[in-house]
Amino acid sequence: MAHEIVHMLMGAGSHSDYGLMRPKWWSEDFRTGNLGGSGLSPSAVDLIRKEMAKRVAMATVANRVVVRGTEEQ
Ligand SMILES: [Zn+2]
Repeated sequence: MAHEIVHMLMGAGSHSDYGLMRPKWWSEDFRTGNLGGSGLSPSAVDLIRKEMAKRVAMATVANRVVVRGTEEQ
């Protein structure tokens, strides 16, 4: 699930050779718990944080528009 959330934030081309964003996962990985750590580089983590902040800001603005629209009715 975390893998897919990163895709939503960073796009389809966000695979890496190791860790969370490996393109292929095997049942052995889950059985052994060898998930390779987060495997996210510091720049990827920074990009995810910025994207999250941007989306929260957009949702806040959208919520204000909805609330304002509700108050005007
Ligand atoms: Zn993927």
